[in-house]
Amino acid sequence: MPDTRYVFVTGGVTSSLGKGIISASLAKLLQARGFSVTIQKLDPYINIDPGTLNPYEHGECFVTDDGAETDLDLGHYERFSNTRTSQANNITTGRIYQSVIEKERRGDYLGETVQVIPHITDEIKYRIKLLGTQGDYDFVITEIGGTVGDIESLPYIEAVRQLRWEMGHRTLVVHLTLVPYLSAAGELKTKPTQHSVKTLLESGVQPDVIVCRTEHPLNDNIREKIALFCNVESSSVIESIDAWSIYQVPLLMLKERLDLEVLRKMGIPEPGEPELLNWEEFLDKLRNPAHKVRIGLVGKYVELKDAYKSILESFIHAGTVHQCKVEVVMIHSEEVERLGTEHFLHDLDGIVVAPGFGERGIEGKIRSITYVRERGIPFLGICLGMQCAVVEFARNVLGLEGAHSKEMNPRTPYPVIDIMEAQKKISTKGGTMRLGAYPCRIVEGTLAHRIYGADLISERHRHRYEFNNRFLADFEKAGMIASGINPKEDLVEIVEIPSHPWFVGIQFHPEYRSTVASPHPLFAGLVEAALRYRQGRRPAEGSSPEA
Ligand code: GLN
Repeated sequence: MPDTRYVFVTGGVTSSLGKGIISASLAKLLQARGFSVTIQKLDPYINIDPGTLNPYEHGECFVTDDGAETDLDLGHYERFSNTRTSQANNITTGRIYQSVIEKERRGDYLGETVQVIPHITDEIKYRIKLLGTQGDYDFVITEIGGTVGDIESLPYIEAVRQLRWEMGHRTLVVHLTLVPYLSAAGELKTKPTQHSVKTLLESGVQPDVIVCRTEHPLNDNIREKIALFCNVESSSVIESIDAWSIYQVPLLMLKERLDLEVLRKMGIPEPGEPELLNWEEFLDKLRNPAHKVRIGLVGKYVELKDAYKSILESFIHAGTVHQCKVEVVMIHSEEVERLGTEHFLHDLDGIVVAPGFGERGIEGKIRSITYVRERGIPFLGICLGMQCAVVEFARNVLGLEGAHSKEMNPRTPYPVIDIMEAQKKISTKGGTMRLGAYPCRIVEGTLAHRIYGADLISERHRHRYEFNNRFLADFEKAGMIASGINPKEDLVEIVEIPSHPWFVGIQFHPEYRSTVASPHPLFAGLVEAALRYRQGRRPAEGSSPEA
C-alpha cells in the first residue's frame, strides 16, 4: 500500500526493557482503532535465525506458519494482535549478509565494491519496506533489537535514518529508555535517557516519542526535563510503569495516549474510540480467578522461563477460559531422575512434558509420564513430550524393553520414534527440520475430536523424528491410539489413551497458536481436566484460588 506508515522502535540504556511488549501494545492499540498493523523484529546477531541458538542464549525459538524459526518476540506480536507473522517479520544480520553475499557471488553488483553502506543498509531498507509493499498494512512497526550504541546495531540505525529522510512524515521513531529510581537520593534520574537519546542523535536520528520504563510514576517535572533535553514535546514523553501482567501494558499505553501521540505526529486524524472490550474482559478474568490448579512443566531449561515462553503464555490464556489461575510449577527432569517422581509430582493437578532435543533429562521425563499415566493425572506431551509418552508406553505397557527414540539411542531394539524419511539425508542444522504449519485429520469419537470440535486442523511443527508406524497396530491394541494423522504423509500427530481421563501427546506445538483473543483448546482442555482432577482429589478444599 503506497501510504503504509513505518514506526521504528529503538531501545536505549539497557536491554530487557520490553521493546517487544511496547511494540505489541502499540500494535494492539492501533488495531483496536481500526488500523491494520504488522510487527517486524530486526535482530543484530549473525545467526541466520534463532533456530540454531541454545535456549540458554536466547530463550524460546518461535515458529511461524510458514516455517520460519524466529525470535520469541514474534510470539508476543501474535498473542497480542491475533495476526499471523511470517519469515518476513524476523530478519537477522546473518540473513542480511547472506543475501548480500549471495548477490555479490552472482555478480549482481556488477563489480562494485560491496560495503556496509550502501549495500547492507539497502538490504535492510528493502526488508523493512517489503512488509509494507507485500501486505495490506496501514502500519509496519519495526523493532530494532539490541541497544543504541551497540556496534552491531549501527547499520540498522543508519537504515532508519535514511528511511526517515526518504519518507519523512510516513516514519516515526519511538525510543524506549529506562528512568531509574535511586533510593538513596529518593529520585528518578533522567540522565541515562538523555545519554541514550544523545547516542541516537550521533547517528542522525531524533526520536519522536520517548517511552520511559520506570518503577515509579513520572511527575510533570521529569516529563518536562526529558522533553527539554531530548528535543521532544512533553506529551511525547510516555510513562511505562511496571505492570502486574504484560497484558495490562496496552491499557497503560492507552492511558498515556501513546497511540494518539503516534497518530497525531504522523498527521493521521484521530479515529473513534478503540475497541478493547474483549481485552478488558480477558484482563478482568485474569485478575479475578474463581479457581486454581497447579500444573507441572517437566523440562530441562526450567531455570530459564523464556525457554518455555509460549507454553507459559498459553496457560495464562487457557486459565481465563475457565476462570482459573494456573500455577505452573517448573520441574527439572534431571532432578526427577535424582529425587524421584513422588517428590515432585504428588500434589499436582496435571503435567506437561516439554518439547526439547537430546538425551539429557530424558529418563526423568519418561518416569514422570509413568507416574501420571498410572494415576489418571491429566497429561499433555508436546513434541518431545509426546515422543516420551510413546517410549514410556512401549516399555511399560507393551513390554518392549529398551524401546526408545532413535534420537536418544540409535541402536535401540525397538525404535518406536524414528527419524523422518525426509530428514535422513540432511546434514546441516539450521532451518532443516519439519517446520511450520501442516494439516492434521482428527479421528471422530476421540478426545482430540471433542477438544478441537473439528475434523481437520492445522498446527505448527518443529522436529526431525516421528512415531514409527511399524508399531502402531500394537499400540492401538494395547490402548494408546493415534487420534490425529497427517492426511498426506500418514504421520501420527496426536496420540491418546482412551482409558485415561485426559492423556494427550501431540507431535506439533499448540503453544505457538494460542493468543489472548483465541486461547488454544488443548491448553484449555488440560486446565479443565486438571480442575476436575483437583476437585475429585480435594473436594473439601475445592479449587479456590487461595488453596
Ligand atoms: N527432538 C525431537 C525431534 O526432533 C523433538 C523436537 C521438539 O520437541 N521440538 O523430533
